[in-house]
Amino acid sequence: KPIDLTTKLKQIVNDVEMEAEENGLRISLSSYSKPVITKVDARRITQVFINLLSNAIRYTPKGGMITVDIKEEVVDQHKVYTCVSVSDTGIGIPKEELPHLFDRFYRVEKARSRHTGGTGIGLSIAHQFVKAHGGFIDVVSQPDEGTTFTVYLPSEDLSE
Ligand code: ATP
Ligand code: MG
Repeated sequence: KPIDLTTKLKQIVNDVEMEAEENGLRISLSSYSKPVITKVDARRITQVFINLLSNAIRYTPKGGMITVDIKEEVVDQHKVYTCVSVSDTGIGIPKEELPHLFDRFYRVEKARSRHTGGTGIGLSIAHQFVKAHGGFIDVVSQPDEGTTFTVYLPSEDLSE
């Protein structure tokens, strides 16, 4: 059943806002009023974004900022993707760790991660689900500056 991702994201951001504030973080959803219709399972795509947002909250020191953005992008000149990015101003991820990030149970720097709980499966689950829907997840990160995860989902061609 098609869902409007814009509306869904507003709900999700609302739901985690309190937790972000308790951790001394601000969170904002960039204003995007156009509905973005996708045919993904609402419950599971919600789980993907909750995973990314709880990571952003967990790995960003007090005073930081989390930004959620939604837009449509053309990839390879003809494929239209719905892109949702979750950016934080957190601890970042070293370049050499990026290729392992979506592996099951992988956690960056075990000593550091031990203090923050978590089992290292959030990203692998998110990755598998997005891949099963013909999409992918991109990550850009700079240690001590922050991280941006972008979820690409193929846009629904309503003329089909
Ligand atoms: P779980 O999600 O199972 O509770 P987790 O958060 O450790 O545990 P993942 O969500 O799979 O597991 O993330 C894997 C690792 O990637 C994390 O342990 C952390 O080291 C790193 N990571 C993920 N998101 C971020 C982020 N926004 N900033 C910095 N590091 C991150
Ligand atoms: Mg996680």
